Order: sequence, then structure tokens, then C-alpha cells
Amino acid sequence: MTVKQNYIAGEWVNGADAAENINPSDTRDVVGLYARASLAQAAGAVAAAQAAQPVWAALTSQQRADALDAVGQEIQARKAELADLLAREEGKALSDALGEVQRAAHIFKFFAGEALRLGGELLPSTRPGMTVGITREPVGVVSIITPWNFPIAIPAWKIAPALAYGNAVVFKPAEAVPASAWALVEIMSRVGLPAGTLNLVMGRGRDIGNALLEDPRVSAVTFTGSEGTGRKVAAACVGRQGAMAKFQLEMGGKNPLVVLDDADLDVAVECAINGAFYSTGQRCTASSRLVVTAGIHDRFVAAMTERMKRLQVGDARKTGTVIGPVVDATQLAQDLSYIAIGQSEGATLAFGGEALPEVDGQPGFYLRPALFTGTTNQMRINREEVFGPVASVIQVKDAEEALAVANDTDYGLSAGVCTTSLKQAAHFSRHLQAGMVMVNAPTAGVDPHVPFGGRKASSHGPREQGRYAAEFYTTVKTTYTNP
Ligand code: ADP
Repeated sequence: MTVKQNYIAGEWVNGADAAENINPSDTRDVVGLYARASLAQAAGAVAAAQAAQPVWAALTSQQRADALDAVGQEIQARKAELADLLAREEGKALSDALGEVQRAAHIFKFFAGEALRLGGELLPSTRPGMTVGITREPVGVVSIITPWNFPIAIPAWKIAPALAYGNAVVFKPAEAVPASAWALVEIMSRVGLPAGTLNLVMGRGRDIGNALLEDPRVSAVTFTGSEGTGRKVAAACVGRQGAMAKFQLEMGGKNPLVVLDDADLDVAVECAINGAFYSTGQRCTASSRLVVTAGIHDRFVAAMTERMKRLQVGDARKTGTVIGPVVDATQLAQDLSYIAIGQSEGATLAFGGEALPEVDGQPGFYLRPALFTGTTNQMRINREEVFGPVASVIQVKDAEEALAVANDTDYGLSAGVCTTSLKQAAHFSRHLQAGMVMVNAPTAGVDPHVPFGGRKASSHGPREQGRYAAEFYTTVKTTYTNP
């Protein structure tokens, strides 16, 4: 099996060693061998990016737009093949994988347009005769560190704006999903970027990832991953020698979906099933807390457990599969440990929660989606992010208590409410403490052209996506002119 190489300074290069990429739907299947960069190569990638950045920024905005548009077009044209690869390495059901690849294509096309639209402001000065101009410039070299749960969409929503606004990139994908990252960079290697504008360094977070934070030539770091790692990234960005790095962190969630007495039961159940279990629950926007008022509680739980029986667990790429496997053995162990914690805390496991070592004769990291009932918001399963197909029902007496419970969390990424009352919808939209609010829609599943991000311990720094992405990927200059 040939090793898929890193991409540094416009060249494909071998690493210090290579790691196997395993299919979680069938652990006998090796997706590929992927090079792991050395520390010297990571430093070389930063140097290449630093040299390329002014060259890239000096191209016209139309040239940058054309390059990004070409990436979007090729992803779109090859979406079936890329989705198959993504489902094979990460384990999300093929329909979810297709949606993710499509989204990556849309993001590149969106930021192709944004490259042309970067504007500024011109204001009168408070001093006579003077004018003040406000413009945005690239920040420089951006390190992009991504998690495994969206192997192509998250890289896309960081790389596309970074390049649109004239920055150069060093990209380190998660260890578990190098194939989608490699395929994306391979496409990007053929769209005319100056050598060094985009570099791929695969490898472990604690060494390669960390090297990208500490290098003083890196001006900004965008990270999506766990809260614990996010805190380390922040500490490294402020604690390093020389200038601090600008940083943006997207981390965990403990997202509530509130179901009120007046909700349409079918809508509420579909929102909960999709939000909690699709993509095997491995979304930072997953609905892990189902906060349900007393008048609808029993009907909701009965309908959920009925509906869960029809959630087919299996090989991510097989027709009919709705829930693919968990990504790897470590994550499966974490999910099972939280299921045991929930039971020891006194929650009732109303459905699922058992690991399935094989499905259709294939060994994989399969887990039947789990629903807990009889839980309180103080239990660990309702305070800590599980990151698997595990959701809890928290019964509350009324809408007021529902809102208080929904907001009683360290996190604040996404929050939802199911109701047929316009008044309640408006009240919850206003008072849910989250970066994103969903009314009669799953907490997960967002549009590519509007801001994504959270509050409290979920996020730090400016929003991602849409035109709000310019806040992170540019730096503002204020120019005073006395003509
Ligand atoms: P996940 O559980 O989603 O993989 P992590 O936070 O562990 O969450 O990983 C997210 C990304 O951060 C991965 O690309 C990982 O390699 C990287 N990473 C992990 N530890 C560090 C670190 N100390 N410094 C920089 N990057 C890291």
C-alpha cells in the first residue's frame, strides 16, 4: 500500500513514519496509510507558508476567487466518491456524508464570492479636513487544527475563508480521518495556488499540532475539538515566545432541545432523533439533553422509544443504515463509560446503549443509540459532553422550568425548542443562552452561509462561517489621511 504523503511548499513528501487509517464499520479494512510529519517538516511548512503568503495576497481577488471556485466545483463533481471515502474512514451514514461533502463544496463557492466582496469603511474624521479609512488585511500564516467528526466540512470552513482573505495555511487534520483531508488538499494542489500557500501536515496533536501553535511565525490558530485541548491551545497561543497568536476555539456542547406541552409530537420526535443520534451523535451541536414538560413527557418518551427501534445501525456505506459506527475504540469506550455512569447515577436506560461487536458479520465499533429517562440536570451525563449516540430526557413541570434547565449548563453552542406557540417560540429564542437557536428544528444541522459558534465554554473568539468569518481571518487597519 503506498503511503499518502504530506504536502509542504508545493511538494508531496514522505513523513517520519506512517499510520493506518481504519474503517470503523469493518476494522479489517485499512482505508490507507498516511504519512506523519516530523517536527522539522512542521516547521518547514510554516516557513513555506510565511514565504508564500505575500505572493498569494498580491494576486488579484479574482484570482483567489477563481481558485476557490475551482475547488468547490471539483468537490461537487466528485461528491459521491468523496462521500464514500468520508463514510468509510469516519463511519457516518452515507447520506450524512453526502450532505457534508456537498456543504464543503458550497463553502468554497461562497468564499470564492467573499474574496471579491471584502470591503472597508471611509468616515469623516473628527479633525478638520482629515478622513479615516478602515480596511481589512490578512493576518498572515494561519494554523488550522481540526477534529475527526466532520472530516471535510470543518477543514473547508476554515481553509476557504483563510485563503479568501489572503492568508497562507498550515493544516493539521485529526489523526483518525486523514483521507478526506488528503483528498481535499490533493484537489487544492491543482488549482494554481502559489507553492506554500496551503500545506498539509498530518500527525499527532500533541507534537505536530502543538508545534504549529508555538511557532512565532504563525499569526493565528483556528481550532475545533475537545474543550480540554482547546484550553491547551489557548494557553500555548498566549504563553509562547514573542507575539501572542490570535486564536479561535470551537469546543464542546451540551445542547438542550426543549419540548413543550403544545409541541407537534411528530415534529418534536423527529427533531430529537435527528439531533441526538444522526451522525452517531458525534456532533458538537447534538441534542444530548431533551428537556420535556410534564404534559407531553410520557407520549414523547413512548414515541421516541418506538422510533428508535427503526434506527438501523450498520455499515456506514450500506443502504438502509441510519446510524453508522462510533469513530474508534477510544470513543466507544468513552460512550460506554458514560452509559454506565448514567445507570450508576440512577437514570433509567429506556432504550439501547449496548455495544454490538459485529453487524452482518463485520467487526466494528457499533453502538445502539441510547435514551435515558428519569434523569436530572445535575447528573454527570447531563453536564459533561459524551460525544456519542446518547441522549437524556429531563422532565420539567412547565416552560419556565424548561428554560431554566436548558440554560443551566457550562456550554452554549446550540439550543432548540419545539412548540406551536408563537409566543413561546419568541420567548425561548430570546432567552436561550446559546450561539444558535432552533425553533422546531434539530439543534444540529446548520446553513453554510451564516455564523456558526457558541457562548460560554463552547467557544472562544469570533464566529466562523458566512461573512462573519472575516473577523478572525483579517486584521483591521485604521488609516488617517490629511490630504
Ligand atoms: P477529538 O476528540 O475531537 O479528536 P481533540 O481535541 O483531542 O478532540 O483533537 C482535535 C484536534 O486537536 C486534533 O487534530 C488533534 O490532533 C489536535 N490536538 C490534540 N492535542 C493537541 C495539542 N496539545 N496541541 C495542538 N493540537 C492538538
